[in-house]
Amino acid sequence: MAGGHVDIGRGCHVWLPASGGWGHSNSGLVEGVGESLLVDTLFDVVSTMRMLAAMRDVVARAPIERVVNTHGNGDHWFGNQVLSDREIIAAVPTATEMRAVGPAEVRALLARRGQAGAFARRAFRGFDLSDVEPAYPTTLFEAELDLVVGGLDVRLVDVGPAHTAGDTIVHVPSAGVVYAGDVVFAGVTPIVWAGPIDNWLRACDLICELGVSTVVPGHGPVTTVRAVRAQASYLRFVQEEATARHEKGMTFDEAARDIDLREHGELPERERLVVNVHAVYRELDPDIPALEGPSAFACMGQFMEELV
Ligand SMILES: [Zn+2]
Repeated sequence: MAGGHVDIGRGCHVWLPASGGWGHSNSGLVEGVGESLLVDTLFDVVSTMRMLAAMRDVVARAPIERVVNTHGNGDHWFGNQVLSDREIIAAVPTATEMRAVGPAEVRALLARRGQAGAFARRAFRGFDLSDVEPAYPTTLFEAELDLVVGGLDVRLVDVGPAHTAGDTIVHVPSAGVVYAGDVVFAGVTPIVWAGPIDNWLRACDLICELGVSTVVPGHGPVTTVRAVRAQASYLRFVQEEATARHEKGMTFDEAARDIDLREHGELPERERLVVNVHAVYRELDPDIPALEGPSAFACMGQFMEELV
């Protein structure tokens, strides 16, 4: 996938990294007349500055007045400090997650001994979080927020909980574009940090019903609703396969090892299956304890090790 700044037309821009894997998220820029809105910053300060430099012609004629963070994962907001003097917008559950797991927590994960730290260091290699200072949202909203960005109508809709507790999509109706954040992973395995999966599937339906021609995922290349349907098919598949194994009495990690991903087996980052099966198990049995970040990374690291 070719990275860099891409003008997708009608005032919509994206910045794509060279790959869509762990930590390598997309940013969007909605350019109105004399003003623009940035959709997500990146995982570290250097990447965020490089992204802004790549779009300097656009932001020179339409300065970034506002930033929206689609959700609380660090790869979508740790670069906020570069724009900390602007209005930063997020849904209420997203802001709560940002305060719960910020750069200090991710640095602690990266410093851990054992499988969790080893896998996190491998997943996030190439990023430098040492100088990240959290810059939190200054404007919070619940459910929906309508903006006008230099004459363009922009709708923010929190369709979560799905990937995380709050998942905002940014719809630009006049352009036929939706920036989906991590509600859509294109050509990459999605990861269910929150769920329920049924709500994520409803969010996929909602995106398909917007009537947009272009979907900008949180990770992966610019795409269409076809990728949204493909992802929904993966989520339904995991839901069915995990449920069947829960009924047979398997543990979640036995189930993850037993599932044959078939047509989904080619998706990168397939170790996320362990976390996704655990999410299904917790929906079926709320007594199962949550898989906190370090445990999730340890489980995925172990799963990867067995794959090779
Ligand atoms: Zn992400």
